[in-house]
Amino acid sequence: MREVILCKYGELILKGANRATFESMLVKELRFRLQFCGNFAVSRSQSIIYIEPRDEDADMEAAAEAVSRVFGIVAYDRAASTENCTLEGICALAREYLPRFLRGKKTFKVEAKRSNKNFPYKSPEISAEVGGALLSACPYLRVNVHEPDVTVRVEVREGVAYVHAGQKKGAGGMPIGSSDRGMLLLSGGIDSPVAGYMMAKRGVKLEAIHFESFPYTSERAKQKVMELASLLTRYAGGLNLHVVSLTHIQEEIKRACNEEYFTILLRRYMMTIADRIAKQSGCGALITGESLGQVASQTMRAIGTTDAVAELPVLRPCIGLDKQEIVVTAQKIGTFETSIQPYEDCCTVFTPRHPKTRPELDKVIAEEQKLDFEALVEEAIATDTVERIKYLP
Ligand code: ATP
Ligand code: MG
Repeated sequence: MREVILCKYGELILKGANRATFESMLVKELRFRLQFCGNFAVSRSQSIIYIEPRDEDADMEAAAEAVSRVFGIVAYDRAASTENCTLEGICALAREYLPRFLRGKKTFKVEAKRSNKNFPYKSPEISAEVGGALLSACPYLRVNVHEPDVTVRVEVREGVAYVHAGQKKGAGGMPIGSSDRGMLLLSGGIDSPVAGYMMAKRGVKLEAIHFESFPYTSERAKQKVMELASLLTRYAGGLNLHVVSLTHIQEEIKRACNEEYFTILLRRYMMTIADRIAKQSGCGALITGESLGQVASQTMRAIGTTDAVAELPVLRPCIGLDKQEIVVTAQKIGTFETSIQPYEDCCTVFTPRHPKTRPELDKVIAEEQKLDFEALVEEAIATDTVERIKYLP
């Protein structure tokens, strides 16, 4: 008996010529991530990716965990294989391998698939035989074909058969890199890591930018953002994190502009700087964690005034989500606990007492013209430093 991990990927997105490209992106990503779990062979055939340990030290538990975070995989499962492709051989394999996955379950059904059409039994016959074998090995089980606690799957291929039970839901989405590259504006908050996760899920290779305002924001606040970026890599893969100083811009805004416009002005600087660095880095879009109406700078009008300075499209995957929905995702992806650590963000440094919730663009521009916008942007871009955030296995 040999143990493998079977991965299934969505068929619908894999149309025509794109299919081969998507498949090789997926395999490449899996190979990269599995290196950290031992020595594995990754191959594919008929819309299934097979992950097989090459030696004793290969950690199947860790590999299954890694696979669960790879976008593009809709379902995966640990399975056992046999080259003894007779009905008896398959039943023996099922009796040996499956009981450990059936412990504590009451009902099951068997679904067999036979892609080797020379196999002398049809799928319903295979299901019935394997079902019978399992009933004798696990007498506490009953068959329930409508709502089973667990579905046992048998796949008979050319020269090899697989059995497995309890297929797990994969991360879904599209393989990283299949939707180009995007620049995530990453704060220390709850929303922007979730936004990054959501776009990575749609195949976007992430790059990130964080704005700091040292000494108004601390070194610890920046560490927190690096930690969030690191947590994101478990789904999104390694990424470059740009860190840009807004200190001088914030001081200038505070010195020269009407307090009601502080936040909106600052956000226009952020967008402009992110837009330029994104283009230099080959990104096709900006990504933010904004959610409509959440705070004064996220009203429709406020978003309109910040959007106006970006040339690249701005993707806001959280725009229609409630805070609670964003929190649920943050918890699922493991960023929530870090996000709620209380460190200051540059946006909270000079918060106006009465921010404009319905800013008019001409008034915003009039405020902005009190400063040398271009020079301040150039000066901030010159502070850009890039941290390489490695994939966290
Ligand atoms: P988050 O939880 O992501 O911080 P938020 O609800 O606190 O969001 P804002 O502070 O208004 O909202 O920020 C809106 C978006 O602007 C963030 O989701 C993020 O994409 C971006 N942003 C805010 N502050 C920064 C920062 N210091 N560096 C980079 N991007 C930022
Ligand atoms: Mg924030």
